[in-house]
Amino acid sequence: MGNQASAGRPPQVSPEHLRPSPKVSQRAEFDERALRRAILERRLAPCTRGQDEASPHLDECPICMLNFPGGLNRSSCCKQPICTECYLQVAPRMSSRGVSCPFCKKDNYTVGYFGPPSAAARAKARQEEQLALASARKEPEPARGN
Ligand SMILES: [Zn+2]
Ligand SMILES: [Zn+2]
Repeated sequence: MGNQASAGRPPQVSPEHLRPSPKVSQRAEFDERALRRAILERRLAPCTRGQDEASPHLDECPICMLNFPGGLNRSSCCKQPICTECYLQVAPRMSSRGVSCPFCKKDNYTVGYFGPPSAAARAKARQEEQLALASARKEPEPARGN
């Protein structure tokens, strides 16, 4: 299980991951060909099926709360992860025009896909999450003034 980059080889995306699940494709109107191209060109994460169970090898989409292998898209503005299916519901035209970021509300929402995060980046994210949880637990309820 090496971590070798497969440079020079065409990206391997199985055909079933080039389109979202029926529940999304029925609801959102989007250009399926453009989507397929974006995934093959690695501009969007493949539409892998999210899993309910969290795992150190998966990344959670904060919108649908499902866990995905292979890394998620990230917003250019605030670097928040989002799975391709949720992205399509936010920006069905895959264009930033008139779309604001679902996280920070900045206009012209765009995402990028950079592949799965490195083990180090994942460990750091997990650590930050743990710290955030711990401090949230420690924090006393704000005193009610009146
Ligand atoms: Zn999602
Ligand atoms: Zn944002």
